[in-house]
Amino acid sequence: MSPYVGRFAPSPTGPLHFGSLVAALASYLEARSHQGKWLVRMEDLDSAREMPGAADSILKTLDTFGFEWDEAVLYQSQRHEYYASALAQLANTGLAYPCACSRKEISDSATQGIDGLIYPGTCRHGAPCGKEAKALRIKVDDTDIQFEDAIQGNISQNMAKQIGDFVLKRADGFYAYQLAVVVDDAAQHITHIVRGADLLDSTSRQIYLQKRLGFPTPNYAHVPIAANAQGEKLSKQTLAHDINEKTPVDALFLALKFLGQYPPHQLQQTNLKHLWEWAIFHWDLVKIPQQRLMISSD
Ligand code: GLU
Repeated sequence: MSPYVGRFAPSPTGPLHFGSLVAALASYLEARSHQGKWLVRMEDLDSAREMPGAADSILKTLDTFGFEWDEAVLYQSQRHEYYASALAQLANTGLAYPCACSRKEISDSATQGIDGLIYPGTCRHGAPCGKEAKALRIKVDDTDIQFEDAIQGNISQNMAKQIGDFVLKRADGFYAYQLAVVVDDAAQHITHIVRGADLLDSTSRQIYLQKRLGFPTPNYAHVPIAANAQGEKLSKQTLAHDINEKTPVDALFLALKFLGQYPPHQLQQTNLKHLWEWAIFHWDLVKIPQQRLMISSD
């Protein structure tokens, strides 16, 4: 059996908020309760969406809360050469192709998939004459990608009918999340991915890429994402409040509760060290509700 390697991969678009704390905590406890390693990767590929100082702030909060990572933090912004070489591999086998379509052209002719529009395939056999192709896409075929999510159960998606040819490098020059995450999960030998269920529908694309690039497929577990009373994911946009750094026990207690772990009330009065001991000892993935979205009062 390969040793357990888990990870937390935040995007530095803002400070750590309750929703990302939940993902960090679940991936950490699952790794530690398997005597596994836990790594942190900063997904800072898209400088346009990055908030200055957020990467450092996230790491500082994790550290203050008592999370310990086992290797130096990996920064995606420093790994362009690896994404370029994966892209070259896919282009050489004829799987990746340049696309010249604008957003408007796609939305005018595409049908809705499970996670965005299904690209109609206009540039599959070459971009129309005179148009500059700036993005790169991967061809998908009529295969079903199926996997067993440790929380959400059996998931199966048809690549052609539900996803479509997806972007590997965007027209603005940024490498796409789907490509970078697959290259880095393989490079860091990640065996178990525990993250928010907002990424559940990305997983089939990632498995598709892993197969095409000859990478192993990790195990997946998607925890419910925290939503406000309106059912919107807690994020900077929905004004999720930042975590209070001064009260880590309270925040971790609430995150444990959200994850269905039933922490006893007394734990709120304890110190950080005891809270972590309780959490690692009692952690049980099976108790996490099989839901993609859950209302959180925080
Ligand atoms: N960076 C992504 C996010 O913050 C998570 C990526 C992942 O866990 O695969 O939403």
